[in-house]
Amino acid sequence: MSKEKLQLNKREYTWPKKPVVVVCIDGGDPEYIDSGIEDGIIPNIEDFMKNGFYAVSKGSMPSFTCPNNMSIVTGSEPVTHGISGNFYLDRSTGEPVVMTGPELLRTRSIMSEFSRKGARVVSITAKDKLRRQLQKGMDLSGGSVSMSSQFADQCTLKENGIENSLEFVGRPQPDMYSADLSLFVLDAGIKFLEEKRPVILYLSLTDFIQHTHAPGTPVANQFYSDMDARFGRLRELGAVVALTADHGMGDKANENGEPNVIWLQDLLDQKLGRGTCKVICPITDAFVGHHGALGGFVRIYLKQKQDRNKVAEIVQSISGIEKVWTAESVAKELEQPLDREGDLAVVADKRTVIGGSEKDHDLSALKGKRLRTHGSLHEAKVPFILSEPLNDIYSRRAKGNTLRSREIFEYALNGTEV
Ligand SMILES: [Zn+2]
Repeated sequence: MSKEKLQLNKREYTWPKKPVVVVCIDGGDPEYIDSGIEDGIIPNIEDFMKNGFYAVSKGSMPSFTCPNNMSIVTGSEPVTHGISGNFYLDRSTGEPVVMTGPELLRTRSIMSEFSRKGARVVSITAKDKLRRQLQKGMDLSGGSVSMSSQFADQCTLKENGIENSLEFVGRPQPDMYSADLSLFVLDAGIKFLEEKRPVILYLSLTDFIQHTHAPGTPVANQFYSDMDARFGRLRELGAVVALTADHGMGDKANENGEPNVIWLQDLLDQKLGRGTCKVICPITDAFVGHHGALGGFVRIYLKQKQDRNKVAEIVQSISGIEKVWTAESVAKELEQPLDREGDLAVVADKRTVIGGSEKDHDLSALKGKRLRTHGSLHEAKVPFILSEPLNDIYSRRAKGNTLRSREIFEYALNGTEV
């Protein structure tokens, strides 16, 4: 096996001497860690924080699932990897495009690069929608595997590098909307480590629990304690364990328990007339049950460019809006690909979400629960935890800079080498 360093997107990665497991705890807001420590339910994470490394790092914007998973696995920002939302509006056709296709990802992942150099790599995601991007260009011929727990029962050697995966993991197919969908990912990772000794593992979970259960509540605590036991087992098997999140999670309900929503399309239609602009909510995906397609970040596409300043002024004056950018300024400030921007980008404040038209959002799935969701700058804070202490070089680097979640593979691979 080659012992050279590997380069991707202007970063260098050391060939691992022992297995490195990066876990993306979907919706894993740092508050869950704080409250888990307080309640004494996550002893392994607590041990990593004490004897390894812990910081709160900055994720990519918008604080959604697809952009941040791609930032973590490519070590780059959306401006480089191209995934700037869960979907975007194609200006040439006027049609919304779901951003999960591998053709939209503009670079390969760290897992792909290592597999192409002959390393055995395992990439497992809870939701299958991420899988094909994660495995873009991955070489599955040398024992590497890329699969999802959602379709674990459908794995083939050709597409996933494994068949009969339920038998291998020793668990039944998990339910789509369950904590089990995530725990299956971790159990599969453990099984691979026990039996196949891959050197790079990426385990990406789902935020089903975090969308519905606040930190410190019984269901959230059970989930964190179940995850924690598995993190401990991964460490016990000799791996460097690195934990981060794609985004945090915030409470977006008012004192009556109703969501704090700005129906931005309706408001702009009222002020400017219908058809002047289109509000796109790039949180939208097939899992809208969690959040009613409501998040803290939207893009506005204008029919006529000359309306831009006027629309920006109107939006900025709405209570609950934190910031409005032009496409050029958001591309620069939040490192977004300009060709996938609208005309304006908008974020809500900590307690507010932005929707399009009220009639297009189905909030019935909330069933009277408080809305918890993400997308704004406030959910771009994510934990950055390593089971091992940092070497001098990376220790100095971590002190001098705001850590970014996209650096977690680099820190786990290079920063824990003595
Ligand atoms: Zn997510």
